[in-house]
Amino acid sequence: MTKDHKKYAAAAAACFLLLSQASPVWAQTGAGPGVVQIDSESGRLTAVGTVYSLDLLEAGTRIDKSQMAFSDAGRYFTVREIRRNDSVFQRINGRSYQDNDYISLESLRYLKVLHYNFDGEIQVGELIVHKDIAEDARNIFLELFDAGYQIQSMYLIDNYWTGDGVDSDSASIDANNTSAFCFRQSSDAETLSNHALGRAIDLNPQQNPYVSYRTGEPVWSHENADPYIDRDTGLPHVITHDDLAYQIFTKYGFTWGGDWQEPKDYQHFVKEDPASDRTFTPLSG
Ligand SMILES: [Zn+2]
Repeated sequence: MTKDHKKYAAAAAACFLLLSQASPVWAQTGAGPGVVQIDSESGRLTAVGTVYSLDLLEAGTRIDKSQMAFSDAGRYFTVREIRRNDSVFQRINGRSYQDNDYISLESLRYLKVLHYNFDGEIQVGELIVHKDIAEDARNIFLELFDAGYQIQSMYLIDNYWTGDGVDSDSASIDANNTSAFCFRQSSDAETLSNHALGRAIDLNPQQNPYVSYRTGEPVWSHENADPYIDRDTGLPHVITHDDLAYQIFTKYGFTWGGDWQEPKDYQHFVKEDPASDRTFTPLSG
């Protein structure tokens, strides 16, 4: 066995990855050599060897189907608590998460999932949602994965952080990123968004924009959505009542923003807590 063909065992007992090929440049991901390979031009991360767990793989990492150790993809889909000062907390603290009176860190869960991207490659995704809907969300994304449903990317909104929740959401939409939790007000600026409570998920926002019809004409704010205002084009990734995402989310008790009268929010699936008060006083400072 050569230097380039040694086994790499991760610290977690149930989780290890087998190094099967050499890599010229290793990602500075914290995952360690042997786990991922980074393309120096595109920055794309690709898993190396057989994958037994997503624990050490960042969102966005590509995995070939032949690298999956388990035919049951559900073994890769995890839900875990976020602890103060763990790596997820460090990414979100002061960004999508702030200590507040509405939602506690303890009530949020961090999900790792697999999804197909728009090139049909298997990719690692991540999501933060409320614990009450965490198992639902896990099972929804598992069903979508098993069906080959394509989602362009699933990174925490903090990867697009601009300093402000609403602006960061806008940046995430411009990148067509699927995300859920972000402590921010809603678009009307008068209530707390269901995203702030971890109860709403925005799916493929470019193809599924937020559209107001208040003036009688559609009004939208993201240019990348221009081809998707007409909902009857049959273009890929457009959510309609015939779309699998609509069918699976509603099966788990979510409602769809595409069913609202005004505005329409075609990317938005929400499972509200009827008891929650979303009257919002903006945080100071
Ligand atoms: Zn939304």
